[in-house]
Amino acid sequence: MKELKTKSEGVNHSAVDIGNLDDIKDYTYIHPKTHQEIKGKVFVGEQLNSSSAEISFTTLPPHAEMPFFHQHKNNEEVYVILKGSGQFQVDDSVFDVSEGTVIRIAPEGKRIYRNNSDSPLSFLCIQNKQGSLEQFCVEDGLLAEGTKMWTE
Ligand code: ZN
Repeated sequence: MKELKTKSEGVNHSAVDIGNLDDIKDYTYIHPKTHQEIKGKVFVGEQLNSSSAEISFTTLPPHAEMPFFHQHKNNEEVYVILKGSGQFQVDDSVFDVSEGTVIRIAPEGKRIYRNNSDSPLSFLCIQNKQGSLEQFCVEDGLLAEGTKMWTE
């Protein structure tokens, strides 16, 4: 079973390495409630010590699909298709997805996905508490003063 590697940690940051996109299939996630082994999935939020986002990477083999719909209690999900193609269903809407498709799903949206292609489908999913974003884009950024560039 492939393990997540920590690359760098500091007071204000954490960095992990999931490896190449083609390696996502080698991770196994043990579901904490059902103890089911889910191949091709890795969560990185906890190892990143993230306080605002859960992030997972998933690779579905050709012609594989999620066996059930799921919803969330509080978190909105954003899926980013990284490689391959397939289909998502949210409530009664079914749509094709492929590299570059970005999907936002509200907590109450009933979602399921499948890989209906002959190649692996890889995506990342970011969960954040719905309604927690206070501003878009650069509105939250500010110039950091007193920092030396490239200290090594
Ligand atoms: Zn979810």
